Amino acid sequence: GRPIVAIVGRANVGKSTLFNRFIGRRQAIVEGTPNLTRDRIYGNSSWQGRDFVVVDTGGIEPGSDKGIKSKVLFQAKQAISESDLILFVVDDRTGMTPQDEEIAELLRRSKKEVIVVVNKVDQFVKGEEPWEFFSLGFEDVLPISAEHGKNVGDLYEKIVEKL
Ligand code: GDP
Ligand code: MG
Repeated sequence: GRPIVAIVGRANVGKSTLFNRFIGRRQAIVEGTPNLTRDRIYGNSSWQGRDFVVVDTGGIEPGSDKGIKSKVLFQAKQAISESDLILFVVDDRTGMTPQDEEIAELLRRSKKEVIVVVNKVDQFVKGEEPWEFFSLGFEDVLPISAEHGKNVGDLYEKIVEKL
């Protein structure tokens, strides 16, 4: 079947905005409210003839094990286990958080291929890398703006290269 690309990360980093960009529709609900996406949402995307499935997930909150939060975490873990490639979305505006580091640990244990997507880099300056996020321990770190579509072409390239 088609390869599966999961979009994971904590709440509000822009996962659903990125998902919408991939599928080219306003399907996922984007809002300031964290954890709005409780279930996994699937969409089809393609780049230069390569088709793949993208999965949007709710925000992972490590350590949350009750009620709605545990359901969100469960959905994210399911998405990780079924995926061929993970887009680990972080937020350049807030910078790295302890939650990001915990999610990184979860992803390392999954042994899946990971691209760190540094979102909300609205003013991209070539040569200015989001250095702090390299310390999460993944080789591929790419700054983008999901909202403004900046560098999304490069992200597509990288995805297809890894699938
Ligand atoms: P999610 O919780 O990770 O799914 O995040 P959302 O996609 O719902 O986005 C959370 C907030 O970040 C919304 O207010 C978006 O408009 C905003 N956002 C998403 N992408 C960008 C971006 O590239 N730049 C900026 N400045 N804001 C963004
Ligand atoms: Mg969302």
